[in-house]
This record gives sequence, structure tokens and C-alpha cells, in this order.
Amino acid sequence: MKRMLSGIKPTGQLTLGNYIGAIKQFIAYQDEYEMIVFIADLHALTLPIDPKELRKNTKDLISVYLACGLDPNKVILFKQSDVHEHAELGYIMACNSYMGELSRMTQYKDKTSKIKTNDSIPTGIFVYPTLMAADILLYDADYIPVGIDQKQHVELTRDLAIRFNNHYSETFIVPEPVLSKTGAKINSLSSPDKKMSKSESDKGTIYLLEDLNITRKKIMSAVTDSENEIRYDMENKPGISNLLTILSALTNKSIDALVEEYKGFGYGVFKKAVADVVCSELEALQNKVKEIQESNVIEQILADGAQKATYLARKKLSKVYRKIGLN
Ligand code: ATP
Ligand code: MG
Repeated sequence: MKRMLSGIKPTGQLTLGNYIGAIKQFIAYQDEYEMIVFIADLHALTLPIDPKELRKNTKDLISVYLACGLDPNKVILFKQSDVHEHAELGYIMACNSYMGELSRMTQYKDKTSKIKTNDSIPTGIFVYPTLMAADILLYDADYIPVGIDQKQHVELTRDLAIRFNNHYSETFIVPEPVLSKTGAKINSLSSPDKKMSKSESDKGTIYLLEDLNITRKKIMSAVTDSENEIRYDMENKPGISNLLTILSALTNKSIDALVEEYKGFGYGVFKKAVADVVCSELEALQNKVKEIQESNVIEQILADGAQKATYLARKKLSKVYRKIGLN
């Protein structure tokens, strides 16, 4: 069975983008692949975060994973900081990477473009992709499901793996990114040309655990255009196209089928349909999250997951240490 790996940073409250672009996909993959899913809490430190918030986000994240149907009997589910091999191989990857290639990462450029001087850009955000490479390469993962925003980091991981293999002999599996068919990228409802993102507060972001009256309002006031025609055209109609993408991902209907279904309807009716689908999906999810958080199963699941992950990671890291002369 091929192995697939993915993680999410507990940097903020989970969004509909994370759900459609990442979490929902894992559930489908867990029967097809040997899945390894982790909470990327070390990655959450790249930009300043309040410790209380980090703890809460971590707990919510694992609860959402479980509520969505991720099965700890099928999937290795753990917290990155529980397996210290990530940080260790991350350092080695940093030593094998170049300033130039890291500076070219779009996400680094995006996230630092708002910071005024070089002096206050945290180094962690610069070396982030080297830790991500370690996350992946430790486990011999064949496939990495990603939204389009993370594809470049997986490509860098491939480069680093190939570089290491060439230099020290075959050590790492070179992973491949897998883009989800629909919903590869969900945008903000208020600025539909911008990615919906959990660490950037935006009135167009839908949070999975928010009050559903607010969700409904956000969808009903989503930015659209003046045409009043429902069709997919990301360039000229990013708002409507984004809503179509969301609806398609949650109903499993194709965009074409939805365009046909809503032909002749006004934007108000269409938005209401989107709101109904999103709210009913989130309501079920929120109920399950509550149940899980009340049941106290989380700690044990994370401890079991960390033990399984450590076993694999330890083996790989020993091999790396041997090759580079550390033991
Ligand atoms: P941050 O703002 O901290 O980067 P994020 O919302 O981008 O948060 P990540 O933890 O970076 O979330 O990514 C988790 C997973 O969710 C990744 O697989 C990523 O590709 C996916 N993802 C994130 N945002 C979206 C989005 N708007 N649409 C689709 N997938 C997304
Ligand atoms: Mg991100």
C-alpha cells in the first residue's frame, strides 16, 4: 500500500478552506493509502502565537480530524512536537538547502510582504519548508495531498530528497504532490481573489466551529459581480466561481451540473442554497466535535499515534545519521 502524509498547522481556527482542501480529502484517502496525519504544531510557531491559543487550536484540530471520520485505527495521528525527529531532520534539511531556493518560495514572499523590515521577519518562516521536507521524508511518504498553496513546498522537498540521495546514496523516497480534484483552493468570500486562510482574519473567512448564523450571513453577503449570471469564470467572476467551487465540493456535484441546475436563478437564491449546504454540513460537524471534546479520548489517541510515528521516524533518522557520519 502506498503511503500518504499530511499535516495542518494549529495557527488559527480551522476554515472551510482547510476542510475542503485538506481534511475532507483525508477521509477519502484513509482506505486507499497508509495515511499519516499530524498536527504541525512546530510550524505554528513561525509567526508569533499565544500559547493558550496554540493549545486550544491543537485540541480543536484533533477533534475536527476525528469528527470528520479520521479513524485512529487506520491512520497514524499525532502531534509533530511529540516526535522530536522532525526537528532533528529539519535541521539537517536546512543544512542541505540554499538561501536562494528558500527565498523563492511564494508563501514566504506572501507572508513576509506585510512585514516592514528584514530585521523583524522571523527566521522560522524562512526555513519552514526545510522542516516540512523533514516531516515528509522521515516517513517515506509517496504522496502528499495539498492545496495549490503548498505545492511549491512539496516540489522543494523533492529537490532536497534528490539532492541528498545523489550526495549520500539512496535514502529518501521522492514524494509526489496530489492536488484535490475540486476545491483545490477556496477563496475568501469578501475578497474572492484571495485564499481563505486561518491565520489571516478576514470577514470572508468561514470558520468550521463558528456560530452558524454568522456563517449564513457571511455567505449571503459574499462579494459577487453585477452580471447576475451563474457560471464559472475565476478571472471575471471570482465570487460566484468560488461559491460554485464550495457547493461542488460539498455536494459532490460537478460545477457544470451546478451551473445547469441554477441556470436562470438569481444570486440570492444561489447563495441561500450554498448557505444551506454549508450550514447543514457544519452543524453535523460541530455536534460531533462537542461529543469528542467531552469524551476525553484525545490524549490517548495522540499518545498512541506518537509512539507509532516515533518508531518509523527513528529508523529513518538513524539511517540519515549513518550516511552523513553522525554515528
Ligand atoms: P495559515 O494561514 O497559517 O497558512 P492555512 O489556512 O493556509 O493557514 P495550512 O495549515 O497552511 O492552513 O494548510 C493546511 C492544509 O489546508 C494544506 O493542505 C493546505 O493546502 C490546505 N488549505 C489551506 N487553505 C486552503 C484553501 N483556502 N483552500 C483549499 N485548501 C487550503
Ligand atoms: Mg497556509
